[in-house]
Amino acid sequence: TIADARAAASKDNLRSPICCILGHVDTGKTKLLDKIRQTNVQEGEAGGITQQIGATYFPVEALEKKTAVVNADNAFKFKIPGLLIIDTPGHESFTNLRSRGSSLCNIAILVVDIMHGLEPQTLESMRLLRDRKTPFIVALNKIDRLYGWKQIANNGFRESLAMQNKGVQNEFADRLEKTKIAFAEQGFNSEVFYENKSMARNVSLVPTSAHTGEGIPDMLKLITQLTQERMAGQLMYISEVECTVLEVKVIEGLGTTIDVVLTNGRLKEGDRIVLCGTEGPIATNIRALLTPAEMKELRVKSAYVHNKEVKAALGVKITANGLENAIAGSRLLLVKEDDDEEELMDDVMSDLENLLSKISTS
Ligand code: GDP
Repeated sequence: TIADARAAASKDNLRSPICCILGHVDTGKTKLLDKIRQTNVQEGEAGGITQQIGATYFPVEALEKKTAVVNADNAFKFKIPGLLIIDTPGHESFTNLRSRGSSLCNIAILVVDIMHGLEPQTLESMRLLRDRKTPFIVALNKIDRLYGWKQIANNGFRESLAMQNKGVQNEFADRLEKTKIAFAEQGFNSEVFYENKSMARNVSLVPTSAHTGEGIPDMLKLITQLTQERMAGQLMYISEVECTVLEVKVIEGLGTTIDVVLTNGRLKEGDRIVLCGTEGPIATNIRALLTPAEMKELRVKSAYVHNKEVKAALGVKITANGLENAIAGSRLLLVKEDDDEEELMDDVMSDLENLLSKISTS
């Protein structure tokens, strides 16, 4: 069982946490993600960042390079192997990434426009995060819009703030204070990250700009720190498969495919799997495990690379027969040799009611 596998796992064998980006429309969720993905060639920033299906993987080397400007003395140690960020920001993927009421999204970045404060979908995101007990940090985005802001690309926030004239610093202090009050009204204690003494008690606010890249090194360091401090127990790599269907898509030449996030364990070509369908449970065999081809692999005719086996955490596209009625948000179970397939089918379908009520309300 998953509990046995968890007990056997070691704390030194952490898997990559899965991070979702939430927030009101136009706060800069997509821009922030684009900015994090961008590699800085001049500074010799490692690639190693890989585009997956529905997610982007940042290996620890990339995180170390991207946070170097705020970790010059290397005082902060990275223990996670990497970070998987879900590509589609917003409620949809967050709510789909769940299994039996618990979220498979381990941590989240809630993006707030510093010029607008908390907006309706911000409040909705906060409710979701609270319900699912998902630890999160807040990116107070668009600091470059503070009147008179002087930018230094990709700088640490505190260093940039120190360079601003008094007027900018005052406007920032004022907006920060208003944000903290608005969070308090929602029942959250919050603190700007460099004054936050307890990430367990207070939500960290990290000012960012998706345009200038300022504050992004702080944001990546904080999300790592939050994971390592709050979640080590939940992030041990286990061999038991935990997997959720994010999207069901018809692809020319491939038929109906499912995009899944494998949050634990491994999947192999040929594996027998069980998932929810609108016409009853689906049991099928994995035909192919696909990830996007890199640009440089020019000889590859298809847009995808076939993988014999994949290991958590990652996003992957699965092709198989009989996926036409698959439901986004469904758990995907692996049928092992000694497993009773019928039992697993009942098990996976026990989620159906939840899934369908969600479909009908969205
Ligand atoms: P999303 O709806 O939350 O994904 O927001 P987008 O990433 O699409 O951004 C919405 C708009 O805000 C776009 O016009 C962006 O260029 C702009 N924007 C996003 N981040 C920043 C920022 O840090 N500074 C400024 N000045 N504009 C931003």
